[in-house]
Parts: sequence; C-alpha cells; structure tokens
Amino acid sequence: MAKIIQAVRGMHDILPEQSRLFRHLDSTARAVLGAYGYEEMRLPLVESTELFARTIGAATDIVEKEMYTFADRNGDSLSLRPEGTAGCVRAGIENGLLHNQMQRLWYAGAMFRHERPQKGRYRQFHQIGVETFGMVGPDIDAELIFLTQRLWAGLGLQDVRLQINSLGSPVARAAYREQLVSYLAAHQAQLDEDSRRRLHTNPLRVLDSKNPDTQTVIANAPCLLDVLDEESRAHFDTLRAMLDAAGVAYEVNPRLVRGLDYYTKTVFEWITDRLGAQGTVCAGGRYDGLVEQLGGRATPAAGFALGVERVVALLEEAAVVPAEPGPDFYLVAVGEQAERMGVVWAEQLRTAAPEARVIGHCGGGSFKSQLKRADKSGASFALIVGDEEVDKGNVGVKPLRAEMPQQTWAWRELLTQLAGARGDEVSRRLAAQ
Ligand code: ATP
Ligand code: MG
Repeated sequence: MAKIIQAVRGMHDILPEQSRLFRHLDSTARAVLGAYGYEEMRLPLVESTELFARTIGAATDIVEKEMYTFADRNGDSLSLRPEGTAGCVRAGIENGLLHNQMQRLWYAGAMFRHERPQKGRYRQFHQIGVETFGMVGPDIDAELIFLTQRLWAGLGLQDVRLQINSLGSPVARAAYREQLVSYLAAHQAQLDEDSRRRLHTNPLRVLDSKNPDTQTVIANAPCLLDVLDEESRAHFDTLRAMLDAAGVAYEVNPRLVRGLDYYTKTVFEWITDRLGAQGTVCAGGRYDGLVEQLGGRATPAAGFALGVERVVALLEEAAVVPAEPGPDFYLVAVGEQAERMGVVWAEQLRTAAPEARVIGHCGGGSFKSQLKRADKSGASFALIVGDEEVDKGNVGVKPLRAEMPQQTWAWRELLTQLAGARGDEVSRRLAAQ
C-alpha cells in the first residue's frame, strides 16, 4: 500500500463535527458585524514580503522568524499572510477606499505563522479581522469593544474579560522606550534570552514576556501610562468614560502591549482563563500611523483580530451547542423502481419547497438499514418509497421525532401541501395533519 501522506505540522483539518462551532462563530460574527454596519472584504492569502516587513516591523517575532516566505517563479519574494491588517490597508489604499472616507470593514480567513505548535497556537489558524478607517476619536474604539462584547453574548460565552491600555503617541512612546531600555539594561542579568535580545530591537515587547524572572523585573518597570502625552491621555480617559457609561467592565493593564509595531493610543485584549497559556482570544487597538507608513495619506484607524480556533476552543470548553436544525426529510427508497424514482422525488420536493432540507438516500440497502440512517441523520420525517408506492404515486410519511402514526400521502398532494413552506413551517405543515 502507498505511504499515507499526513497534514503539515501545525495545520489542521476541521472535521464536520467541529465545523459546526466554526459555523456558529462565522454566522454570529457576520450577523453582529452586519448589524453594526461593517462590510466584508475578501483579501489575498499571499502578499509581497515587503508589505509585512514595512508594517509589522522587522524586529518582531513574526517577521524575524515566523513568516512563510518564498520566491515565486519570477524570483519575487512573497509571503503567506501572517495577519490581515497589512493586506487590508494595502487593499484600501490601492482601491481608493481610505482617503477622506469613513470605512468599517471586516474579513475572515486563514493566517500562517511558523510558530511552535501547541494548544491554541497553530501554523495555519484563522482570524476574523475588523478594521475601521477615518475615525479619529475614542468613540470608534468604544464601538469596537461593544461589538466584541455583543459577539461573546451572541455566542453564549461568558468567561472573557477585557483589558485596555494606551500606547500613547509615537513621540511619547519613543521617550518611554528610552526610559524602559535604561531600566531593563540595569536588570539585564535577570532577563530571559529573548528579552535580552529584544531590549535593543523591540523593548516594548519585553513587557509581554511570559518568563517568570523577566516578569519580576517588569513588575517594577516604569509605566507608559504615567508618561502619556496629553492628547493620548484625554483619548484614553474619554474611552474609559464611554465604557463606564455603557456598563462594560474592564481592567487597565499598563503592561499590555501588542506584538505589532504599528499600534498607537488604545490597545485592548479579551482574555480568558479557561484556555491555559493561550488565553488571548481577541486583540486590537488603534494604528493611526499605518496607512501613511504604507504610502497612503495619513488616516486614523482602529481594529482588532479575533483568533477563531481559540474562540472555538472556548465554545467547546463552555459546552456551547449551536442550535442547528437537522434535515426535515430523509427519503428512503427500497426496490428497483423506487431507487430510480427516489432521487427524482427528492428533487421535486426541493423544487416545491425550496427551504426544505431533504436528504435522499443513495446507494440502496434494506429498508431497515435505510431507516436507521434516516434516524441517525436527525431528520424529522422519513419519506418511505417502495416499488408499490411508486406504482400508486404514494409515499409513506413516518414521523421520527414524535410519537405519531405513519401516514400515507399521494405524492402530488404532499408536494402541494408543502409548496412554498418557509423553513420553520416545513415540518409543521405535516405534523399538523
Ligand atoms: P500571542 O501573544 O498569543 O502570540 P499575538 O500577539 O501574536 O498573540 P495577534 O497577532 O494580535 O496575536 O493576533 C490576534 C489573535 O489571533 C490572537 O489574540 C490570537 O487569538 C490569535 N492568534 C495569533 N497567533 C495565533 C496562532 N499561531 N494560532 C492560533 N491563534 C493565533
Ligand atoms: Mg504571537
């Protein structure tokens, strides 16, 4: 036998059972985003490597060591997208969506990072990304937070909490960076190896270290919030007032920084304690400098990205079972003629009642085995067709979920009875008989 080829490490198949939860997240997010007036974008998986080097920053983990970069056949350096913001901004500039406009956009899809795979951390994972452009105040920051909170509620999730911080203006941040570097340099011996390296390349990222010794050092580090510029301070205070007024609970975490270099002012994360070390399910903030950095006109912007696998893990953990309707009908066809007509009748039923969910049994088999499958499918009714029924133009209607006797219908009459039935009426019109 030929050798079985396996999936690439860190890249997972999402099987039917699991894809229910993914769909629950997709459809809930789509509904919430639509209700807030956000519009969907579909963006390429592959971009030029330079896009990420220029936006994410060369001294970040992502660009330093996590990107899937390759030369295409022309020798151009391309990368699988490790995140969506850069591509969305690129598309916005290229298509003239940003200048002098207000945009509320979202996208969903796979991202790729060559990280060490572990629970909640994969090499191919999915994000739902939301980006807004042209709105400078904290009101849009608050809206993004309200929206995510409404999403958790819609999903049936409770155990997520909000942390916020402000990274200030680039000028304030540069001044803080110097303070931080001299403080950390004085405690270099206690820092882990990664942090020592980052001390000179990306010192703010040291604040994000999970190493216990480094965390002890960080606990006494100077605080960015103490040295915020006046404008960022006012922005942050107003945001807090808006969250308070709306009754949104949050914690100010002065150590909260983002892995990506382009954030300014507001940053926020939704965190859970139920997923171990990979507890951040959604992260975002403001990135007022990014559009200009990519060659567009200066445009204020704010957004977030939600880690789909982590939210799905949380749904699993919370035993959320999405209410998805099963099929209305499973058409059982036993006998030579019946098998031939079964698929045709199933199709006629779909035409008469386009919202009906109809599974037509294919592949033959005994009455008993087909009925077993009908039951397993979760269908409300089995429609039973044998050669005798085909001759007479009849069908047996057997309720599978209710204690009701089997009925016999003329096929044509059944089609009339179900004609145009709305989704939730399909089964009811027969149950009522
Ligand atoms: P982390 O600190 O967990 O590495 P990050 O700062 O790299 O996160 P972002 O780039 O802000 O994360 O991505 C937003 C969200 O996408 C994260 O909060 C997380 O939920 C999810 N995410 C990021 N990397 C991965 C991954 N490798 N596998 C699964 N989900 C991920
Ligand atoms: Mg990361």
